Amino acid sequence: MANFNIDAVKERTFQAIVIGSGMSGSWAAKELCEHGVKTLVIERGRDVKHIKDYPTTNMLPYEFEHRGQIPLEVQKENPIVSRCYAFREDAAHFFVKDKEHPYVQEKPFDWIRGYQVGGKSLLWARQVQRWSDFDFEGPARDGFAVDWPIRYKDIAPWYSHVEKFAGVSGNKDGLPHLPDGEFLPGFPLNVVERYFQDQLKAHYGGSRHMILARCAHITGNLDYYAQQGRAKCQSRNLCQRGCPFGGYFSANASTLPWAEKTGNMTLRTNAVVHSIIYDEEKGKATGVRIVDTQSKEMEEYFADVIFVNGSALNTNLILLNSTSNRFPNGLGNDNGLLGKFVAFHNYRAGISAEYHGHLEYTTQGGRPTSGYFPRFRNVFKQETDFLRGYAAGFSANRGVYPEQGGVGMHLKENLLNPDQYGPWRVGSHMMGETIPKESNYVALDPNQKDEWGIPLLRVNVDYDDNDEKMVKDYLEQMTEMFEKAGFTNIQTRDDRRAPGLDIHEMGGVRMGRDPKTSLLNANHQLHAVPNVYVTDGASMTSTATQNPSLTYMAFAARAAHHAMKTFG
Ligand SMILES: Cc1cc2nc3c(=O)[nH]c(=O)nc-3n(C[C@H](O)[C@H](O)[C@H](O)COP(=O)(O)OP(=O)(O)OC[C@H]3O[C@@H](n4cnc5c(N)ncnc54)[C@H](O)[C@@H]3O)c2cc1C
Repeated sequence: MANFNIDAVKERTFQAIVIGSGMSGSWAAKELCEHGVKTLVIERGRDVKHIKDYPTTNMLPYEFEHRGQIPLEVQKENPIVSRCYAFREDAAHFFVKDKEHPYVQEKPFDWIRGYQVGGKSLLWARQVQRWSDFDFEGPARDGFAVDWPIRYKDIAPWYSHVEKFAGVSGNKDGLPHLPDGEFLPGFPLNVVERYFQDQLKAHYGGSRHMILARCAHITGNLDYYAQQGRAKCQSRNLCQRGCPFGGYFSANASTLPWAEKTGNMTLRTNAVVHSIIYDEEKGKATGVRIVDTQSKEMEEYFADVIFVNGSALNTNLILLNSTSNRFPNGLGNDNGLLGKFVAFHNYRAGISAEYHGHLEYTTQGGRPTSGYFPRFRNVFKQETDFLRGYAAGFSANRGVYPEQGGVGMHLKENLLNPDQYGPWRVGSHMMGETIPKESNYVALDPNQKDEWGIPLLRVNVDYDDNDEKMVKDYLEQMTEMFEKAGFTNIQTRDDRRAPGLDIHEMGGVRMGRDPKTSLLNANHQLHAVPNVYVTDGASMTSTATQNPSLTYMAFAARAAHHAMKTFG
């Protein structure tokens, strides 16, 4: 700071700083800016403006040089990101390539990242299920991790707040363990999905459900969303390219332009946060150090309140790298637990089958969501030899394998010939809760640094015996349900994928009641540095089974309102 003049310091001083402009950071920014707080959003990647910077959004399949595929050479150079189903030619420009941002895998971990304005909110699959008290009470009930310092009632109004603004479609299902929200009309389930629902009712008497998965797509209340410049989802199913209609929620289409419109947001792109500045005399954090990705110069920015939303593992990295005399092992890390108790979702298992009924129907057109099995294992009581349980996706599609010969009218007739439609294909994939453990951790590499002088992250995260038992149970239970429904040619798989590919990494800066065993309090403030808030996946004490981003967004909005008290 020695060479800063007072004006320069003033120019670099804000009321709040938000690190990361993705799913969760953009919510903190929106809430703060909307309520008059001068906020600097710092983003390591480039700017991505809604519509203008979606280069592939309206491209037709034949306009892609490789017809949508990633060339083998690129796959070989990028084995980690190539394992992500959405890393295809139409969206590859929104993913981090392996070599550009290395990290150290003490054990295999596929870290999938999106370093640009909007983060991974451009790429996500938009599945948004609420948590319930069966999740928040999980660690205390089942004796793992630490008790969450909050319960469903604390977060429920914030789920509503986020759902209304983001736009979430779904049905009111009335399930205590998957609470209903502020839903726009749901997309229809098809005839075989409805058939399977009925089969579950008939065979399991209401103890197992397959419902429509709630997803962050606009399907109604169009005037309200027009204020954001967003329109109804067109079911194009090209979401990962960025949606020119703003039909699904992304930071780029929704929260960031809203924050910008207030005139209170300043966006600093191409700026990697190196660390948070802790002032020993004041006993609080006073700003952040960034490295400009182009010039490689270090700069400092100052604020009263700092939100860390770099995505779970990057948030851990930033805090671990924020050392001072007071915090030699990372900001707020008095108990040595920073970086530990990292967990994820177990997506290893899947099942597929055929169904030869309802052949008089077929499916047409796209739909941006699918069916969803809320957790049914160990919900109301412990019933298996493993802890917790799994949710699962479910969908049915009519296979169409027509003769593709001919041109013009002949080709059209071939393609539309109903005799050439195959049976229905049904499938499901597992989404298992994993148990956070001290032995699953991230840490800074003592020797290796990235090109901005920031230590590389070492990742040491693995499955355990509980996960193995859960995979086995999922495959057994799904096979049983598929058989009962009359599905045939059932194929099960355990692809043994590494953790990380679920893209639901969580923990390391967990919430809790006791500063001796947790890093954050019930308001997402570091116990030891209360003007620093963490509201992304790093804050998660346990993982539940639900896709987590809705919870991060609700946490960010709630914590932003708490932080506003600082400003009177
Ligand atoms: C293909 C795919 C499908 C998914 N599907 C779903 C789904 O259906 N449902 C669901 O809930 N979740 C889903 N996810 C996960 C979801 O995208 C993440 O949970 C969510 O984006 C996390 O929000 P975040 O704010 O923590 O991180 P991000 O959205 O990744 O944003 C973090 C931002 O911080 C920036 N940043 C990082 N480090 C620094 C630094 N040092 N300095 C400055 N800036 C920094 C990054 O560049 C990024 O812009 C999916 C993800 C992918 C990729």
